[in-house]
Amino acid sequence: MFPEWTVLVGFYIGAAIGSFLNVVIYRMPRGISLGNPKHSFCPNCNHQLGIPDLFPLLSWLVQFGKCRYCRVKVPSRYFWVEMVTGSLWGIFWWQNLVAGTDPFRFVALALFASALVAAIYIDLKFFIIPDQVNAAMLVTGLAYNAVLFAQHSPRSMMWGMPVAVAGALVGTVSLWAVAFLGRLAFGKDAMGHGDIKMTRGIGAVLFPAAALASIGVAVILGAFLGIIQILARRKTQDEAKDAGPEDEGEYVPESLGSLLKCGLGYLLLIDVFGLFVPRLYEWWFGENPFAVEAVEDEDVEVGATTIPFGPYLALGAIVLAIFEKPILTAVERYINGEM
Ligand SMILES: [Zn+2]
Repeated sequence: MFPEWTVLVGFYIGAAIGSFLNVVIYRMPRGISLGNPKHSFCPNCNHQLGIPDLFPLLSWLVQFGKCRYCRVKVPSRYFWVEMVTGSLWGIFWWQNLVAGTDPFRFVALALFASALVAAIYIDLKFFIIPDQVNAAMLVTGLAYNAVLFAQHSPRSMMWGMPVAVAGALVGTVSLWAVAFLGRLAFGKDAMGHGDIKMTRGIGAVLFPAAALASIGVAVILGAFLGIIQILARRKTQDEAKDAGPEDEGEYVPESLGSLLKCGLGYLLLIDVFGLFVPRLYEWWFGENPFAVEAVEDEDVEVGATTIPFGPYLALGAIVLAIFEKPILTAVERYINGEM
């Protein structure tokens, strides 16, 4: 559809989106509005950034990763978020607009991957995945499904319902079941609620088969990287132990009733509608959707074995978004005993 060189255009648009994601990643967990202040600012000196600072990738490189005004180091995250988002947009651009001809799929996957990048970085730092990000994925999946309907695509339905709805159901139920069974068996919170809501969105975009495969990839990635992470943390924790005793709050796992009620709420999309009707959200979940716990930069303390599963789920979803065909074909051949 487009010549190959246009992949660079896709990459640079993606990098610009990544620049916006950096704003999302910084502001959303801190409860700062995305539109106010309208201009980006340096987190250290609060200086408003000018036009040259807003060129993705280049501005960071040209200034050697420092703020032009106060010379304080800008975290490399700003560069990598733009780089990763740009690369993903480039890949989807190539797959759907150069090698293939599916502009709607390109838009859906590019938006989806951008939301996942934001979710990964926010979850790694704050151990939350904002409801807005999860809602954005769900809406992307439903909108793409509507396009499939308009194209009379045979993919638009599954199990007698819209395929995005089927995927969202599969995603929500499977992660919720892990949370519920884990709570029953071990008396501990096994899964974050953000993870359940995110997998609902992943299911809506990837549809049931690829969504399940992405959870499988997440488990494999989590097992490998998680072990490394725990080992690395234990080392730093041993060092921290010498510094003094840790103040540990009493651990109270969530009640099964609350887990049931929340799971039902996610199926009914109360967390999504609740973004527009906060009273609905408060009525069901007992908290304000826009309440922000005071998060200060190095404030988030982590237990020795706490690994947020969200980043792995998001990574698994990105892997499936890129390699859906080869992975699903391989799984199918394996199930049919051809491998
Ligand atoms: Zn500065």
